Amino acid sequence: MLDSEKMLFQAILDNAPMGIWFLGLDGRMQFVNKTFCTALGVSEDVFLAAKCYVDVMPPNVTAGLLRSDVECLTQNGPHQSLEWLPFVDGKDHLMEITKIKVLDKDGLPMGLIGLATDVTQLKQHAKQLEHIAHFDALTDVPNRVLFADRLRQALAHSKRENSILAVCYLDLDGFKVINDTMGHESGDRVLIEVTKRIKAIIRVDDTVARLGGDEFAVLLQGLHATEECSTSLNRLLEAIGQPIEIKGKLFEVSASIGVALYPGDDYDADTLLRHADQAMYSAKQSGKNRYHLYDAASDRRTRTHHEFLKRLAVALVRGEFELYYQPKVDMCTRRFVGAEALIRWNHPERGVLAPAEFLQAVEGTTLEVELGDWVIATALKQLESWHKAGLSLELSINISARHLQSTDFAWKLKRKLLRHPPLPKGCLQVEILETAALGDIPRVSETIERCNKIGVGFALDDFGTGYSSLSYLGRLPVDTLKIDQSFVRDMLFDKGDKAIVQGVIALAKAFDRRTVAEGIETEELFHALVAMGCEYGQGYGIARPMPAEELPAWLEKWNSAPFR
Ligand code: C2E
Ligand code: MG
Ligand code: MG
Repeated sequence: MLDSEKMLFQAILDNAPMGIWFLGLDGRMQFVNKTFCTALGVSEDVFLAAKCYVDVMPPNVTAGLLRSDVECLTQNGPHQSLEWLPFVDGKDHLMEITKIKVLDKDGLPMGLIGLATDVTQLKQHAKQLEHIAHFDALTDVPNRVLFADRLRQALAHSKRENSILAVCYLDLDGFKVINDTMGHESGDRVLIEVTKRIKAIIRVDDTVARLGGDEFAVLLQGLHATEECSTSLNRLLEAIGQPIEIKGKLFEVSASIGVALYPGDDYDADTLLRHADQAMYSAKQSGKNRYHLYDAASDRRTRTHHEFLKRLAVALVRGEFELYYQPKVDMCTRRFVGAEALIRWNHPERGVLAPAEFLQAVEGTTLEVELGDWVIATALKQLESWHKAGLSLELSINISARHLQSTDFAWKLKRKLLRHPPLPKGCLQVEILETAALGDIPRVSETIERCNKIGVGFALDDFGTGYSSLSYLGRLPVDTLKIDQSFVRDMLFDKGDKAIVQGVIALAKAFDRRTVAEGIETEELFHALVAMGCEYGQGYGIARPMPAEELPAWLEKWNSAPFR
């Protein structure tokens, strides 16, 4: 080999970013490159002069190195091992060492080549990645993946030990408000604080995990009685409920916790967590800031309800709701004066559904107001298109007591009306349903007055059915009473019902209110009501509720042949 070639090889070996050496069978180094010498802080001369190379290595690594040398010489193919070697920088570095046996021309071993690569950083990155994959970035507690893993282990353990395991699904109450009003940074602080409080209460063997958003899972292990579990849960509720200080202000959140107990609830890990989730929903439903133990039968019911609600929300987005319109006529002149908008659900499989089939499900939920808003918007659009076509009428919409009492009802209604500038005053009427659910009468009164100012009238629907119909009449500024159809239906046979209808009409006159009779199914009833002085009427006998586009044709027919 030429000198220039030798120098080239030397340069390549010396500059390779790994330790490279050749070890003779006698244990002496015959070559060691600069990278390795520099990293270990042992000069090439010292290495080459040593009788056995391990003599110049730190004593704690010699055994490992010698063992791998022997293994390499006795096996075929490269030998790999991991070894922590102390570097001159004072730190131990993890080295991946590959040793390759070198044979002479007779096939006898003459030594081995050693290659050492620093994998310290690689391993650190792998560890970080593993951490990211298993821990929540914000709170640094296990995530859903690791929780599921721990839960499986815990299940096996409690099977062996015959102990109780509680899987808790925890959702914060009131978190969204803080997050929305105070910003995400404050929301994050709440989550971190809540995590800290949970960690302070559970035992070392227990696990708290963040499942996402404001949802956590807690695994309580090694319990010997269910009472132990309830003590822990109460302490959790108590700790989470303490005020949290953010930017100098105190905030309060609480938690709704669903709990599935093993072995009572003898299922696999996934099912247990799902049951805990369902029980959490029940805890929310029954008033929040509490825990609820999973109970198959009742939780199935709440789940069905929950799923039905979700389906209704989808129906709203998909435009499956439609308003039908039932005409209302002046009893004396027989003139068509208006219509009542009644909601229908055009269900893709079940056909047209009446409100009785779905409205109850939305009671008390946010969907109740969303659906009500949809009714208002749709009714106004329809009203405008009728007015533009020269059909003037008064349209009634049904509004639930809760919707009416929602904040800014009057203001929002005004804004909706402003989107339809051609509409004259007095063309919209709100029918108040379930008056019994009206809580704060003075406030409702104020809302009605504010709506009156923008030309919206009010009616008390189903008048006479509630115990307190009478007292509302005096205290609410409504202009119309709708006589409930249950009295109208039987008034020709039932003296009591007839007396009620007569009474309501007289009452309305005394209070200067208008009356509308609903449920007029026959011409006979119609005439009887005219005779009693009822002003307006609607019912199947006049017209059934119908899609908007059918109204003009009905009107033409009615005008040519109304009840005589
Ligand atoms: P409601 O406001 O008292 O409406 C009158 C109900 O009686 C309507 O039932 C109507 O179809 C029915 N009806 C009208 N004339 C007759 C008749 O001659 N005979 C009989 N047997 N029934 C008659 P519908 O459409 O099923 O609505 C039931 C209830 O659902 C309504 O009672 C109202 O409380 C509620 N509702 C309907 N639409 C809406 C809505 O858009 N929003 C809200 N919140 N509730 C609504
Ligand atoms: Mg009504
Ligand atoms: Mg009614």
